[in-house]
Amino acid sequence: MKRALVVVDCLNDFLSLKGALNCGEAGRRVIPRIAEEIEAARRDGVEVIYACDRHLPDDREFELYPPHCIAGTWGAEVVEELRPAPGDRVMPKRRFSAFFGTDLELALREHGVEEIRLVGVCTNICVLYTAADARMRGLEVVVPADAVASFDEAAHENALRELTSVLKARVEGSY
Ligand code: ZN
Repeated sequence: MKRALVVVDCLNDFLSLKGALNCGEAGRRVIPRIAEEIEAARRDGVEVIYACDRHLPDDREFELYPPHCIAGTWGAEVVEELRPAPGDRVMPKRRFSAFFGTDLELALREHGVEEIRLVGVCTNICVLYTAADARMRGLEVVVPADAVASFDEAAHENALRELTSVLKARVEGSY
C-alpha cells in the first residue's frame, strides 16, 4: 500500500514555547519523535507533506482562536528542528482539516497514496479533523500516539480514542 507522511502544524506558534498557541512541554516532547518519523519516511522514499496553518491577517478563524500562524510571520514557520527538505511538499491551509480548501487530496491521488501517517499537533484539532476527512475519502490513517500532542492532555487522549473507535484509524502505541 502506498503511503505518505503528513506532518501537521509543526510551526513556531504551536511548538515553540514562545508561540501564540503553543502546546507547552507536551509539544516539545514530540519533536524528536516527529523528527524520527520524517527521517524514516525520507529514507524509505515515502513522500513527506507538511500541512501548515497559514492564515490571513483578518482570518475568520480568529473569531474562534487568538491570531496565530499569519502568513509571512515567524509563527507560521516550521520549527527549526523539523524543517522541510528539498523534495518535501508544503501544503498551506486555513482551517483545521488539511483537506479543506487545499491541494492535498489531488496530491495524494496523483501519487496513488492509499494510507497516510499523521504526526504533529494538535491531536484533538487539526490531527483529528484531517484524519476524519481522510477517512471520509477512503484513505487508511495511522497515528503514532507518541508523535502527536495537544495543549490539553485529556482532549489528546479523547481524540486518540475517537480516532480508534469511531474513525477506525490505526493508533500505534499506548495512551
Ligand atoms: Zn489556525
